[in-house]
Amino acid sequence: MSEDCIFCQILSEQASCYAVHETRYTKTFLDIFPVAPGHCLIVTKDHYQDIFEATPDAISMVGHVSTLIAHTVKDELQADGVGVYQLNGAAAGQTVFHYHMHVIPRNTGEEISIHSRLPGDPAELEAMAARLSARAYSMREDE
Ligand code: AMP
Ligand code: ZN
Repeated sequence: MSEDCIFCQILSEQASCYAVHETRYTKTFLDIFPVAPGHCLIVTKDHYQDIFEATPDAISMVGHVSTLIAHTVKDELQADGVGVYQLNGAAAGQTVFHYHMHVIPRNTGEEISIHSRLPGDPAELEAMAARLSARAYSMREDE
């Protein structure tokens, strides 16, 4: 736990989130500045700044869950494609220094961006989290 880390605050429930999925090692919630509806973040439960600090096991767990969440957003939102990526260091565009993976539904013809400054609508985020959560927990483990 890092006191001034917003993702640690979410994990310890000092800050709220639009939760989608949880395992012993990871938590998935919606990005509150979504670049597309259904933009998810998968975070490690332990605080690691980036790929250089995270353990291979922690990174593997995030990778494992990223396949589940990619299927979830593709199926639930009928996305044409899904972006899965993560950034390390300010120079690479990282803005929250707690290891995480972005999973972003993408549709043909839409402009591809990595960050948005527009906050999502709270009611829409809540409804989206409920949809994706129901879908994620209904997926088979090997999907
Ligand atoms: P990165 O730039 O890869 O470090 O991504 C950090 C992401 O976290 C950005 O896309 C932000 O919009 C998102 N973000 C920041 N604060 C919160 C929060 N409280 N809840 C959910 N997402 C957040
Ligand atoms: Zn943290």
